[in-house]
Amino acid sequence: MRHDRRKFFGNAAVGAVAVTAGPALTSCAETGHYEPGKGGTRWAMVVDLRKCAEHEDCRACTDACHKKHNVPDFGDNILHEIKWIWKEHKFDHVFPSYLNHPLPARVGKKPVLVLCNHCDNPPCVRVCPTKATWRREDGIVMMDWHRCIGCRYCVVACPYGSRSFNWVNPRPHVKEITNGFPTRMKGVVEKCTLCEERILHNRLPACVEACPHGALVFGNLEDPNSEVAKIVATEFTIRRKPDLGTEPEVYYVV
Ligand code: SF4
Repeated sequence: MRHDRRKFFGNAAVGAVAVTAGPALTSCAETGHYEPGKGGTRWAMVVDLRKCAEHEDCRACTDACHKKHNVPDFGDNILHEIKWIWKEHKFDHVFPSYLNHPLPARVGKKPVLVLCNHCDNPPCVRVCPTKATWRREDGIVMMDWHRCIGCRYCVVACPYGSRSFNWVNPRPHVKEITNGFPTRMKGVVEKCTLCEERILHNRLPACVEACPHGALVFGNLEDPNSEVAKIVATEFTIRRKPDLGTEPEVYYVV
């Protein structure tokens, strides 16, 4: 069963206000810290690894994301690889904090879907010298590709490998350009921005919409009636490297 759009839109009006609140974005960019309850919106993603693991060759979410966002495909050339959402094949690398945890075998040996965690306390934001990346009050860690000077401090600071650098001009490697979303250029960093351009129009992130197995749930964690809040409150979930204090907003049901 797919994630129910109506549950997501339950608080959409509040979310839309937070997304478009210009002055609030400025203060958020300066602090980079989450302030509980402020604005009433805290976007979060749940990845149900139990469902995802049953379909380990499925690429519906990654393909949808990369197509919608004009992510280039460099084939086997991992030096130039650009990733917004992808599957990691070493569970231990994704969740080193849970090496000795008795996680069920059904997920512990399967690929793990990963993306930017939209951390509440994002180290990538703190190190950016030009404020080309910032955290909005609704939790989305944004990128301004025009402000990025390609220093790659954020790439180094991110403990999750969630950022990619364009070593070459990516445009010739975009298979089919999706109009309405900008292509990037050589020398800038990019990553998932949680489909902020879709949320603005009350649409689910492309990966969530595309998942045919209901493994991805998106919504407002500050709304106790949202599906994400209910899952996080009732299911056993883990986050990546919680000991680092980055406070990821991507939760995994295992
Ligand atoms: Fe920044 Fe990495 Fe956290 Fe994303 S996962 S907000 S890029 S530190």
